[in-house]
Amino acid sequence: PENLALLSQMLTEKGYKVRSVTKGSTAIRGAKAVPPDLILLDVKMPEMNGYEVCQQLKANDRTRDIPIIFISALGDVFDKVKAFQVGGVDYITKPFQIEEVLARLDTHLTIRHLQIRLEVQNSQLQQQIAEKTAAEDKFAKAFRACPNPIAIATYDSGQVLEINKSFLQMSGYKAAEVINHKIAEIYSSSALAVYQQAVKKCDSQGFVHNVELEFSTKSGQVKTVLLSMELIKLDGNKCTLQILNDITERKRLENEFISLVSHELRTPMTSTIGALDLLNSGQLGTLSDRGKQILQVAIRNSERLIRLVNDILDLERMKSGKIAIKLKRCNLQPLMIQATETMQAMAEKAQVQLILEEPSDLFLYLDSDRMLQTLINLLSNGIKFTQPGGRVSLKASVQQDLCQIIIQDTGRGIPEDKLESVFERFQQVDASDSRSKGGTGLGLAICRHIIEGHNGKIWVESRLGQGSSFYISLPLNDGY
Ligand code: ADP
Repeated sequence: PENLALLSQMLTEKGYKVRSVTKGSTAIRGAKAVPPDLILLDVKMPEMNGYEVCQQLKANDRTRDIPIIFISALGDVFDKVKAFQVGGVDYITKPFQIEEVLARLDTHLTIRHLQIRLEVQNSQLQQQIAEKTAAEDKFAKAFRACPNPIAIATYDSGQVLEINKSFLQMSGYKAAEVINHKIAEIYSSSALAVYQQAVKKCDSQGFVHNVELEFSTKSGQVKTVLLSMELIKLDGNKCTLQILNDITERKRLENEFISLVSHELRTPMTSTIGALDLLNSGQLGTLSDRGKQILQVAIRNSERLIRLVNDILDLERMKSGKIAIKLKRCNLQPLMIQATETMQAMAEKAQVQLILEEPSDLFLYLDSDRMLQTLINLLSNGIKFTQPGGRVSLKASVQQDLCQIIIQDTGRGIPEDKLESVFERFQQVDASDSRSKGGTGLGLAICRHIIEGHNGKIWVESRLGQGSSFYISLPLNDGY
């Protein structure tokens, strides 16, 4: 007991929290109730000796890992080997020097703490590995079973590393004809250009969604495909995950349906407008004021419908090459004047100032009717989407071997994510635009077709609430 009191006091002075007991059974009960970080255990004790206490502690889950240091008096019969066999980590002989006790305590506590930390890290690692394996398994299954064609290629050289079954089915290639080959060998040159742009965009924003490209299958069939791309790391290498969506059939059906409906609608719509005009002329008797009002609504809506049908057919004919853009060397200036004059009445009605900036002679290769149609369309959009008191301007300038036309407005602007899509068929920023503004959602798609037919480019820059600028750039020569 004196030794116990001395040791407790010394350790307490050093900042340890000490619990001391004089009997083995009490020690076991105490250790089970609140397991200590370390146990100093005498060999010679009443009722139960130290080895037995140690054995029992080691047999219990709650106390098994507590390091035990034996203490034995110099005169005692102390069996070191047995002490280690029953699970002790060290021993100290009495009389002890406090420095030695402290040094040994410190060493074994450090070992124990490291051991605990290792166990925690180990179980965290195990969990991470399990999660990673589950994620890989999920990805592998999704990759294999996905009905969309998927390919993984290296970022730098575009070397194909993996493809799924749907890719082979869509492309008509065998796995060996694609794996380890470069994308450049599989894609046609136009598709490759889209692909390369997508890779660049992917690098800046991390992903690309649904860019359209023409994919040539092994047998030479051209398919319309939407490409989505994400950057991924595979074995430490930067790669692209490419998911394709074959929309060839959907597009064909869509086009067929649209043109069929348009053709079928045009004749009855034309005769409906004729009938409405006749009613409006008063030749069939006078209508009440309410009747006239309703008739105006009917005329307005019918005109919008026929405009829509005509636009659809126009676009379809342009796309299928039934209307060719015929380029002739002519002056852009009179077309700009004519477009501005045509839109003057609409601008006045909308209380929007229409400005034509210093037009001068500008000879280009143009299809003048189509160019006029484009300018009118863009001016009309500018006026439509600008508040009363605002401005719409048209100007053209020459920059190196290009002519640049700018139609600028101070209107409501176009959100950044719509700057590209407004040029697609039926794409409107606001679903109510066609009703409230009388548009069809086809104007910009037609403009883009016309400008591309001129070997030019059309795009828009805009700031929401401040206005939009539509740019057209055209080659000064005929582009060939
Ligand atoms: P619409 O017949 O609806 O005008 P367009 O293809 O010409 O069809 O334009 C598509 C959509 O783009 C419009 O509905 C509108 O939402 C947006 N837009 C076009 N021009 C402008 C503009 N100058 N300012 C703001 N939004 C515009």
